Amino acid sequence: METAPRFAVERTLGRLARLLRMLGFDTISECEHSRRDFTARVDPGRVFLARSRGGRGEPHFLRRVRIRSDRPADQVVEVLRALGIRPEAIRPFRLCLRCNEPIERADRGEVLGLVPDYTWETNETFTRCPRCRRVYWRGSHTERALAEIRSWMRRAEGEAGGGEPEGPATRLAGKEPTDSA
Ligand SMILES: [Zn+2]
Repeated sequence: METAPRFAVERTLGRLARLLRMLGFDTISECEHSRRDFTARVDPGRVFLARSRGGRGEPHFLRRVRIRSDRPADQVVEVLRALGIRPEAIRPFRLCLRCNEPIERADRGEVLGLVPDYTWETNETFTRCPRCRRVYWRGSHTERALAEIRSWMRRAEGEAGGGEPEGPATRLAGKEPTDSA
């Protein structure tokens, strides 16, 4: 089985980093580290995503993808297309969006008082980041995110080789039958 790509993104792509984490891809973001720390943390096996053309002082990577769009949603589509990422490689909601850390199952009792009462009463399962302790749960935000992910995949598969600088606004899914995965 093919291993999922891992990424490192340059300073201006912080929002893209969070979206890639939402998809389950291990992503280090330059804007979350000092330059020296970032360079020390990245290994050449990561795919480097950058807006610029590249130049002096840039860490060494085996693969580099230049991002052209200004919109984070369009940037994700660029990445999915450039690497030919298949839907089965996507494992959403596996990583903390802030820390890039795999989140863990949390005890329901453990998160009492940390989430809104209604959320606590209506959810059986919660997950939590072991580093920043942020709590995650499934809700309407999850459904919206999944719809968005599906629309990114469709666009990535549909716009083969396109070079348009700005794609149409991301539309949320509504036409295809919703799967319960
Ligand atoms: Zn975290």
